[in-house]
Amino acid sequence: MSGWQSKEEFKARVREWAQKLDVNVQVISMRVMKNKWASYTKNSGLLIFNLEVLDMDKAVGDYVIVHELMHSIAPNHGKLWKSLMRAHLGDYEKLEAELGKRGAQEAQRHSLLPS
Ligand SMILES: [Zn+2]
Repeated sequence: MSGWQSKEEFKARVREWAQKLDVNVQVISMRVMKNKWASYTKNSGLLIFNLEVLDMDKAVGDYVIVHELMHSIAPNHGKLWKSLMRAHLGDYEKLEAELGKRGAQEAQRHSLLPS
């Protein structure tokens, strides 16, 4: 279990996956995102990641990368998407759960409502 050393390391990983999965990626951007971990625009090949991904375990980062890249092939989370995720990441539901936990913590932290 280890995290990312830098943005550059993460971006290099994204390029590796993009090549492996044959997905058009032109620009990789990392920024603060409030409601999601990543977004991908197929036409321009623009891929944006939430900066918080850098604080996460590498395996979870891989999940976020592959999840987003797969949307260039399968737009929703249907059967095709699931089988592709399994083919490339194996037990991806475990990583999904990990990310879900993290998301819940973030939501709590950012909550402005009194508890
Ligand atoms: Zn998705």
